[in-house]
Amino acid sequence: MIDPADEVVRFASELIAIDTTNASDNGGPGTERPAAEYVAEKLTEVGYDVTYVESGARGRGNVIARLPGADAGRGALLVHGHLDVVPADAAEWSVHPFSGEIRDGYVWGRGAVDMKGTLAMTLAVARGLRREGVVPPRDLIFAYVADEEAGGFTGARWLVDHRPELFEGATEAISEVGGFSVTVGDGARAYLVETAEKGVMWLRLKARGVAGHGSLLHTDNAVAKLAAAITRLDQHRFPLVLTGPVRDLLAGLAEMTGVPFDPDDPEPAVARLGHLSRLVGATLRDTAAVTMFEAGYKGNVVPSTARATVDGRMLPGREKAFEAELAAVLGPDIEREWDSLPPVETTFDGALVDAMAAAIGAEDPGARLLPYMLSAGTDAKSFQGLGIRHFGFAPLRLPPELDFSSLFHGVDERVPVEGLRFGVRVLDRLLRNC
Ligand SMILES: [Zn+2]
Repeated sequence: MIDPADEVVRFASELIAIDTTNASDNGGPGTERPAAEYVAEKLTEVGYDVTYVESGARGRGNVIARLPGADAGRGALLVHGHLDVVPADAAEWSVHPFSGEIRDGYVWGRGAVDMKGTLAMTLAVARGLRREGVVPPRDLIFAYVADEEAGGFTGARWLVDHRPELFEGATEAISEVGGFSVTVGDGARAYLVETAEKGVMWLRLKARGVAGHGSLLHTDNAVAKLAAAITRLDQHRFPLVLTGPVRDLLAGLAEMTGVPFDPDDPEPAVARLGHLSRLVGATLRDTAAVTMFEAGYKGNVVPSTARATVDGRMLPGREKAFEAELAAVLGPDIEREWDSLPPVETTFDGALVDAMAAAIGAEDPGARLLPYMLSAGTDAKSFQGLGIRHFGFAPLRLPPELDFSSLFHGVDERVPVEGLRFGVRVLDRLLRNC
C-alpha cells in the first residue's frame, strides 16, 4: 500500500522542478500548463474525473476535480492552491531555485512554501482517499489554479467569473498561508489559522507641473511635488486598529507564555514575537509602501509629469477610511488611479475549525490552534465572491528556529521534509472528518 506521506516529498520536488514563474502583472501568456498537466495526470491515474481549463490567456492551466461525499446536502469543502511562483534569481541561491533538491532535511526551491509543498500535500492526500475508496462526509473539490501571484486574473478570478459551476455548492475553503506552527515560551506550539486578509489597493500616482530648461527657476516641478507627497505618505502612520483575529492571536499567545498583553497598547506584545513580529505587526494598521517611481528623460529638462506606484494594504472595514486618508496625505495636486482587491474575514468557529483542531491535536498533542490575519492577499479574495468562507490551513510543523515568513518569495526558499509528511497526516485526518 502506498502511504501518501511517502509520495508528498517526491511531488513537492517534481513540482518545484517545473518552472512556473509568473513574471507578468497583466495576465499575458503563462507557464502553468506543464504543472497543471502534471497534477491532472496524478489525479487521473487514481481515477479522478479531472476538468482542465485554460483560462484567459495561453498556457494558464487550471485543474479541478471533485470527490463526492456522503451528504450532498452539506456544502462542499474547496481545497485550492496556486501553481505559479514568483521569479527567482539563481545567482543569489545556495541551490538552483528550480532544482527541487532534497538536502539537509529540506526540499529546496522556488515554491517550496509558496506553495508547491502544499500542492504536493493535497495531491498526495487526494490520491490516497481515492485509492482507498473513501467517501468523505461532504464533497471535496480540489482546485489547482494559475496566476495567484498576479491577482488571479487568469486563474481563480477568471474561474469564479466564467466557470462558477465548477465550485457548485462550496461553502468553505482551505488554502495557503496558515496552519504552520510557531513555538512560544518554553517549547509550546500553536498553529496559526488564517481567518482574515488585508485588502489591496495598487495605486498609480501622477503629478503634473510646468516643463522647461533645468537651468531656469522653477516653482511648479512635477518630480519635486510627487517626491514630497510620497515622503509624506512614507512618514504617515495609519491609526492602530486591533481587529478580532489579531486580538485573539495576541490573547492566545499571552495565555501560552504567561506574559499578558495590553489591548490598548499591543505593540510591545507584538515586538516580543520574534520572527512572527513582522507578520503580525503589519496587521495592526493600514500600510502604504511606494514601490516604483518614474520621471524625466534628460538631465537638463524638468519634465511635465512624474509617476509613482504605491502598494496599499488596508484592514477589513477600513476601505473607505483608507482611501480618504490617502487622499488627505497626498493632497489635491496628486492624481490617483487604482485597482483594488477586498479584504477577507471570517469567524474562527464552526465544525470545520473543530475538525482542524482535532486533526492537529491527534498529530501534535497539546498544541493549540489560533486565528491570525494575513497582511498580504491570496485567491481567497476571488473565491469569497462565491460566498465561500476562507481559512488558511496548510498544516506544517516547523522547527522553532526557522524564520518561516521570510521564506515566502525569499532566497533559499525551502520546506522541511518532516513538515510535509506531518501536513499530509493532518490533512488526511481533516478531509476524512470535515
Ligand atoms: Zn501563495
